[in-house]
Amino acid sequence: MARVVVIGGGFGGLASAARLAKLGHDVTLVEASAKLGGALGYVEKDGFRWDSGPTSTLLPAVIRDFFRKSGRPAEKEIDLVALEPVQQHRFRDETVLDLPGGSRAAQLDAVESALGPGAGGRWISYVDDFAEVWEVLRKDWFERPWSPEHAPKQTRELLETRLSLHKMVTKEFKDERLQALAMYAATFEGHDPRNVPAWFGVWSYVEQNFGSWTLPGGMGQLVDVLADRLATRGVTVLTSTTAEDLVVENGQVVAVTVAGGPGGIGTESLPADRVVVAIDPRRLPALRRYVERTMPVIPPVISHIGVVGEVPELPHEIILHGEATITVRTNGTAPEGAHAWTLIGRGQLSEDIVTAMQRGGIRVREQVELRVDRSPRDLVTDWNGSPQGVLWQGRGTVRHRLGSTAPIAGVFLAGAHTTPGAGLPSVGLSAALVAQLIGPAQA
Ligand SMILES: Cc1cc2nc3c(=O)[nH]c(=O)nc-3n(C[C@H](O)[C@H](O)[C@H](O)COP(=O)(O)OP(=O)(O)OC[C@H]3O[C@@H](n4cnc5c(N)ncnc54)[C@H](O)[C@@H]3O)c2cc1C
Repeated sequence: MARVVVIGGGFGGLASAARLAKLGHDVTLVEASAKLGGALGYVEKDGFRWDSGPTSTLLPAVIRDFFRKSGRPAEKEIDLVALEPVQQHRFRDETVLDLPGGSRAAQLDAVESALGPGAGGRWISYVDDFAEVWEVLRKDWFERPWSPEHAPKQTRELLETRLSLHKMVTKEFKDERLQALAMYAATFEGHDPRNVPAWFGVWSYVEQNFGSWTLPGGMGQLVDVLADRLATRGVTVLTSTTAEDLVVENGQVVAVTVAGGPGGIGTESLPADRVVVAIDPRRLPALRRYVERTMPVIPPVISHIGVVGEVPELPHEIILHGEATITVRTNGTAPEGAHAWTLIGRGQLSEDIVTAMQRGGIRVREQVELRVDRSPRDLVTDWNGSPQGVLWQGRGTVRHRLGSTAPIAGVFLAGAHTTPGAGLPSVGLSAALVAQLIGPAQA
């Protein structure tokens, strides 16, 4: 049995801790803030409740696998349901596309009837091209610890391609609406598609084939379920405790220095045989030099709003494409007669985000009764970093960030800042990879 310290109590840290405890290790999780979850969780005010970060997930198999490998099957604890449509896209020319998930045929019909003759076929042919990319990445990037030295040449060439998502998409489509659709995932995550490698488009394939899933009542409930699982598995959880650095002796990690703690313990050292870093590794002096060429993604502008009175019927997620890209999420819970929506802004947001939503065609500005505004700076402060991981700065980024292992013996990485990347599916997979590398406790 190894003494494992997991740094960070976001989805990456929680999932790693639960898996490792199930494998028989003695696990301590340290979380800087007073509550667990990181970006995952709720914001509450005056009877309204919004998901603070994620509201849905692609690749539900990742969540199901986590539940199976850490204790009870998912069906016994959560109710994962498929979103239909996965999003509603509203374009500058006022066309509206309800994009279905989990079906190639349904996407073909929907795109064709919303965007005009030929558009459906062009979209489907673009997405089809990612079938092979998905197979390659699944084997060597999503389900196996990434290591450039050991990856097959084909995978290395794919990951380090000079072709950017922007270049591929603008060459493929003349229709700006299809371009916006193809680049939405990268834009939402806060990247400039000019700096994102073409293979990132694989998320369109994943969405088309496996759909997008949510938990009725909010994804935030995952935090309590995960916290219960840590308690059941005997994980020691230290909240309000910040990991300051790793203690390394002869190239091997031996402890984590932490500050804070419930009683304000000051600085102390937690002995460790293995450490899982589920935060931005730039925050730990011992790791900083290995990732000095990376930059975190700046979080978006967020406004959680309470809307009263009659509102148009809207699906779970609406994307307003324009100078800025505004994502409207409608799944919050609200008092009778009211609605809890979240607006997430990316790009050139030159006016108030509620005004931008109004201009984008969802005209409820006069009905907004309350709002909780969170600037990118607020979010970085609250979340002690960026939950959207490493910013794509071109093809080199794949090499500049760390994979599941660090160049210090006994140190592993999980979460949005390591491979395979940000978003619940990738973060969940990073925890599975760490558990795979550390393996079961020896008797
Ligand atoms: C607005 C928004 C919407 C999103 N929507 C979706 C979505 O719909 N679907 C989806 O799949 N993904 C979505 N994402 C992305 C997803 O939420 C994140 O990629 C994922 O939750 C990141 O998990 P994490 O554990 O890596 O990081 P975080 O959630 O950032 O957790 C890191 C934790 O580590 C703690 N910490 C930091 N430094 C220290 C330290 N030194 N010591 C101890 N603790 C420390 C922090 O306090 C934090 O709790 C969204 C992200 C945002 C910001």
